Amino acid sequence: RDLVSPDAEGEESQIEAALRPKRLGEFIGQARVREQLSLVLESALRRGRSPDHMLMSGSPGLGKTTLAMIIAAELSAPLRITSGPALERAGDLAAILSTLAEGEVLFIDEIHRMARPAEEMLYLAMEDFRVDIVVGKGPGATAIPLDIATFTLVGATTRAGLLPAPLRDRFGFTAHMDFYQVEELEQVLHRSARLLGVTLPGEGAHEIARRSRGTPRIANRLLRRVRDFADVRAGGVIDRDIASAALNLYEVDAEGLDRLDRAVLDALLRKFGGGPVGLSTLAVAVGEEPETVEVVAEPFLVRQGLLARTPRGRVATAAAWHHLGMTPPPDAFG
Ligand code: ADP
Repeated sequence: RDLVSPDAEGEESQIEAALRPKRLGEFIGQARVREQLSLVLESALRRGRSPDHMLMSGSPGLGKTTLAMIIAAELSAPLRITSGPALERAGDLAAILSTLAEGEVLFIDEIHRMARPAEEMLYLAMEDFRVDIVVGKGPGATAIPLDIATFTLVGATTRAGLLPAPLRDRFGFTAHMDFYQVEELEQVLHRSARLLGVTLPGEGAHEIARRSRGTPRIANRLLRRVRDFADVRAGGVIDRDIASAALNLYEVDAEGLDRLDRAVLDALLRKFGGGPVGLSTLAVAVGEEPETVEVVAEPFLVRQGLLARTPRGRVATAAAWHHLGMTPPPDAFG
């Protein structure tokens, strides 16, 4: 598993749970989203009503699940967590919807991967707080309407563009989560270091933050690996050189690009002369699913100004050639 892979699994999930900010006031960065959200929550609390359904969109590891938990905490409401892929049949969703408590927050991660029948059931639930339970099969089947509790749906997606319009339209509020600034990641790191009992000087935090792909989850992960390195080789002191040496060892480069990012750039430059090349061709060249390249690698490469998405395909920028230490062909940039 790559050190900078954006997904958490196994033991890491437990550590993440311990590092998650619990209230909106502890949530670092995303200033606009935080302000919008605090207004939505405060006004719902004043009116004594459940707030509108909310959609969080953004790359993995930016804090969507954390925000869903914070929303429930701020509302003093119970929270139910599921995910799109877990809702294969409409019955899976019906079982959850029909047992929600009044005011409960329902979090559906990867909501763009929900199966079609579940999706249609969700429309009705979101709008009318009702589900139709279908009894029987074929022409004799009847739908029995069942009222359910008023709830707030919080959906998370890495690809808001993939949501069918009827679903997107049923959210009253959409939060677009962006990659974090280096200074914000430094704050995340200092907070985590405090919670983990790690001594982290500013220069060490800066070095780790710079290389964390704008992503808190990766920052926290790199912090733990750098701590291991510092414990074993440097008496526990994380200065700039130690942080840098540790990150080099784990193949995170100076801009925070990981192996997949570099593989994508490398293929784009060496195999396709800098592009334009289609997403699926590029994905085959690096031996990954197109979705992985599109969701995991590209958003960061685009934001770093290394790759551009054009109508004709993916294109490397001048900075990309520079980053890999290569010279672009003479006619590359007009
Ligand atoms: P997502 O659901 O978008 O994949 P998560 O909410 O699971 O991301 O966040 C991953 C980890 O990153 C969390 O465990 C949390 O510790 C940390 N994190 C995310 N956003 C923040 C933030 N704004 N401030 C501090 N820590 C954060």
